[in-house]
Amino acid sequence: MPKIKPMTNDELAASMNWFEGRMDTASSDCWIWRGVLNSMGYGRISFQGNVWLAHRLGWSLFFGDIPDSMCVLHACDNRKCCNPSHLFIGTQQDNMDDMIAKGRARFRMMAKLSKQNVLDIVKECSAGATVCDVAKKYGVAHPTVSMIMCGQRWSKITGIERKGRLPC
Ligand SMILES: [Zn+2]
Repeated sequence: MPKIKPMTNDELAASMNWFEGRMDTASSDCWIWRGVLNSMGYGRISFQGNVWLAHRLGWSLFFGDIPDSMCVLHACDNRKCCNPSHLFIGTQQDNMDDMIAKGRARFRMMAKLSKQNVLDIVKECSAGATVCDVAKKYGVAHPTVSMIMCGQRWSKITGIERKGRLPC
């Protein structure tokens, strides 16, 4: 993860202005990033020759370096928001807990599958159910289902020979 390179106070103030100017700050209390989003729905922004997640850059500009391996989380639950006062630092586990508490998690990352679940997944996928539907039903990420179906996981249970990753 990039860190902000040393700047004078004037440069820092100019950077904060520039950053705020790239947001929609008029329509709500949130500072809504107006630029490119990554696949997770977070803003992406270039600064000092590095690509940042916009909210992480916002936190860094206003509060300083983000401690290693920590996440910048949204109190407002709006991924596009970069208002420093809506952001707080937490661990990846905090992030997961927060997502689950807010009902934002689309799947339970930690769902455990029993052997029977795995066999049922194979049966349902083989019968034509989509990977995404099956993933939702069993509370796992869809790559998990793909990996089962191409023998990368639980192949001893399923007897599926390992092959390339399935698209889904
Ligand atoms: Zn916000």
